[in-house]
Parts: sequence; C-alpha cells; structure tokens
Amino acid sequence: MKRLAGKTAVVTGSSTGLGQGIAERFAEEGANVVTNARSTERAAATAEAIRDSGGESIGVGADVTRKADVIELIETAVETYGSIDIMVNNAGTTVEKPLIEQTPAEWRSVIETNLTGTFFGCQVAGEHMLDTDDDCQIINMSSIYGSGGVQGRAPYNASKAGIENLTRNVAVELADGSVQVNALAPGYIRTRLAEAPWGESIEDHPEWPYYEYADEHIENRTPLGRFGTHEAVNNCAAFLAAGEHYMTGEVLTLDGGWIAFGWGSKSR
Ligand code: NAD
Repeated sequence: MKRLAGKTAVVTGSSTGLGQGIAERFAEEGANVVTNARSTERAAATAEAIRDSGGESIGVGADVTRKADVIELIETAVETYGSIDIMVNNAGTTVEKPLIEQTPAEWRSVIETNLTGTFFGCQVAGEHMLDTDDDCQIINMSSIYGSGGVQGRAPYNASKAGIENLTRNVAVELADGSVQVNALAPGYIRTRLAEAPWGESIEDHPEWPYYEYADEHIENRTPLGRFGTHEAVNNCAAFLAAGEHYMTGEVLTLDGGWIAFGWGSKSR
C-alpha cells in the first residue's frame, strides 16, 4: 500500500527544485498532487510530467503572495479531488546582498513570498482541513538559515526564522482539528535558488566572504562533508506527509550536521 494513497497534496512552487521533487515523490506515494507555479503553463508542465509517469496531478497557476490566488489554488484542489490533506508551503525566493544595500522592495519581496505566502497557505488550507475529521499535514519549508545569521541574507533568514515560529503557532491553533504542522529545514541542496557560483573555486574569488558558495566551502562547513540530496528532502517530506508520527510544531532539520556544528570551518 502506497503511503499517501487517497490523499490530496498541494505543493507550492513545484515547477522547479525541491518542490518539484516533493510533488513527484508524493505522486509516487499515491497522492493526488496539485502542482503550482506563478505561471499556469509551468505548473501544468510539472503536472503533465507526473501523469506521464503514472501519477495523478493537475497544475494551478497562483502567486502565493496573493491571498485570492491561494484561495483559488486550494479550492481547485478540493473541487477536483474532494479534499486537501497535505499542504506544502515550499515557494521561496531570496535577494542576496549586504544589509545596507537591501532596498525596501527587495525586503518586501522576500518576506511576502516566503513568510506571507506560507501564512496564507497555512490559513487557507487550515480552514479546509478543520472542516474534515481526517488527519491532515501542513509542511512549511524553512532552512538552516531559519536559525542563524550569515552575510547577505537578512530578508531570507528573517523570513525563515518567521516560518519556524509561525509553524509552532499554527500547530497549536490547528491541533484541535487533527492538523499537524511541521517545518523542514534543509541544508545546502543543489537547486536553482542557491546554485549561482557553485563549481567555482574559492582561490579564483579572493573577494568572496567566508559564506560564499563554492562547493569546497560548503563541504568543509558541513560535518558530513557533502551536500544534501533531493532524495533526502523527498524522504523527509514524505515522512511528515504520511502522518505516522506524533510531531507537531517541530522543525525537522536535514543539514548534514550544519547547525549542530555551529562554529568555524571543519578541517579534513
Ligand atoms: P527554486 O527556485 O527551484 O524553487 C522555488 C520555487 O518557488 C520556484 O519554482 C519559484 O518559481 C517558486 N516561487 C517563487 N515565488 C513564488 C510565488 N510568489 N508564488 C508561487 N511560486 C513562487 O529553489 P529551491 O531551492 O527548490 O527552493 C524551494 C524551497 O526550499 C524554498 O522555500 C527555499 O528557501 C527552500 N530551501 C532550499 C534550500 C536549497 O539548498 N536549495 C535549502 C533550504 C531551504
């Protein structure tokens, strides 16, 4: 028996990256999956690929910063499949530049996508979930940077810290309705969002501060000495979605020991 058979899942920001992988895995686990991107075409392309692989999926274009769009996204899921059992608030963005140079518009774009979008997803999905007697799961996408600072990422890190305490708050508020609410906090996974100079060498970029993204830097900073994989994210998301756990208001961290290590560079 597939773990998510008969369940309906909405995954925001699922035309690329971690969201796409999670949507594909949930379909493999038997869920009806509603994929999402701001563009209807991109959402539909991911859904089509899932159907081509034997899964069940539709794609819905919606901008998570707009509550009306999030309502439309979730109502389409409920109208098409009869319920929403799993909500993954994954859509995210970043603007990376020094604190002093961040503009008001850049700050707002990151906070509105990551934090406000997650709030709308919890609010709208939560309202539907409270209407059922079924166990439901909300999964919010945080990051290792939900619990720490680094140069150049003030809006992103503030948004992810906000997501973690939003997760705790929503978990408490929705607990009476059998809705469990948890966050995932991945370390570095190779996706478009964080890819830019990967593969380049630190030696070629003496101007880079210590946090920049050369492979060797990330590997040296990570106790397990390697990047995380999409498979690891999918495994953790499927574990939370299946609901065979007693967790709510938790942050499930998958970071190769990044947060546990906490200080300095690892010598190898
Ligand atoms: P990505 O850029 O491939 O995925 C982000 C997705 O969100 C994109 O498909 C984008 O189009 C979508 N999106 C952005 N704004 C949106 C909006 N307003 N409405 C709807 N969709 C929107 O990058 P990713 O790495 O797969 O990131 C997915 C999530 O994982 C993000 O929340 C990110 O912060 C988080 N995360 C990523 C890593 C990593 O190393 N890749 C680590 C920790 C956390």
